[in-house]
Amino acid sequence: MNPQPSNGMPYDVDAVRADFPILHQEHHTGVPLIYLDNAASSQKPNQVIDTLDDYYRRYNANVHRGIHKLSEAATFAYEEARIKVKKFINAPSKREIIYTRGTTEGINLVAQTWARANLSEGDVVVSTQMEHHSNIVPWQMLAAEKGVHIRYVPVLPDGTLDLNAYAQILREEPVKLVTVMYVSNVLGTVNPVAQMARQAHDAGALILVDGAQAVPHMPVDVQALDCDFFVFSGHKMIGPTGIGVLYGRRDLLEAMPPWMGGGDMISRVRLEGSTWNELPYKFEAGTPAIAEAIGLGAAVDYLSALGMENIHAHEQAMTVYALDRLAEVPGITLYGPDAEKKGAVATFSMQGIHAHDVAQLLDGQGIAVRAGHHCAQPLHDVLGIPASARASFYLYNTFTEIDALIEGLYKAKTAFTL
Ligand code: PMP
Repeated sequence: MNPQPSNGMPYDVDAVRADFPILHQEHHTGVPLIYLDNAASSQKPNQVIDTLDDYYRRYNANVHRGIHKLSEAATFAYEEARIKVKKFINAPSKREIIYTRGTTEGINLVAQTWARANLSEGDVVVSTQMEHHSNIVPWQMLAAEKGVHIRYVPVLPDGTLDLNAYAQILREEPVKLVTVMYVSNVLGTVNPVAQMARQAHDAGALILVDGAQAVPHMPVDVQALDCDFFVFSGHKMIGPTGIGVLYGRRDLLEAMPPWMGGGDMISRVRLEGSTWNELPYKFEAGTPAIAEAIGLGAAVDYLSALGMENIHAHEQAMTVYALDRLAEVPGITLYGPDAEKKGAVATFSMQGIHAHDVAQLLDGQGIAVRAGHHCAQPLHDVLGIPASARASFYLYNTFTEIDALIEGLYKAKTAFTL
């Protein structure tokens, strides 16, 4: 189907599923695939796959260079996708939408440009204990180079951030930047980033929001959040791999030095020195991920047509159901806040069975979940566990699949108690 504009009609998950060819294959002979690893990466609908195919078959060419028709068509589609992304997150202008390879690259870009130029010894960057490694390691690298200090907001036992500690750090330390995830990829916690942005600004600091687990799942408005930088990845939002976005406030981006040098990011190159292109191209050196950017535009079209509120409501209902059912399974420990307060993630451990064994036993039943530290080792240290298992849901998952997960876990328990 082509998803219909949201019009109060019930969410038609069967129609959505029909668009995702990978969901209709057998995982093992006679065993259908149940894909519950969406927080790691999402599947792609025909509309995105066909967009990539169409680009390579009909108008593959480099962008911003050729005078010929193919290059003009590629450039048009590449820039049109940027406008779609701008509207999707309600950025003020398309000049503030920088294509990156993903969330990781977006954070590194800010660390290597804005932070490197503006932070000096003794300045403080505030991160949190629940961050993905991609929002910890770039700051540690910067700290080692510049003598910047990092403070981590603690995670409370209910899986939320200690906002009193946050306020105290802002009051007492010379904080220049707060860098925080919107939605946790492990706990599912939805952090109050609008409030955290207000507090950061009152303290004279900027805020970077890691939106990797937010943009795919709920409406996001970067102006309402009043964040200074916002990053996310295409592959988690039914788009291609290798493409992501950095939104930055225009005045900041204008003042920032470029990161990578090369073609397209320059205005004039002389052997004595060079000048930079205007935004957003100053930050897009070299041939970009053209097909992937256009594919991201198709993903945005698909999600927008379905309606992010509708997708969010579907996921929320599934998360409530999944957490209720998981709590029934003897020996299970669930991590993170209550279902009503979190994203579509159910992270758990099972007494007496290592998370990797849980995942392997589920895989044998056609159910794909993630096991490990989910690139959040410091958070697992806080939780006091080396690893956890995670089922994560998306627009095409069903209640029947959750029932299968629960059944699979009972089978896993039986296998380990035999
Ligand atoms: N932040 C969060 C919250 C994530 O879940 C992920 C991906 N697991 C990332 C950052 C990194 O995203 P990418 O690998 O696409 O750069």
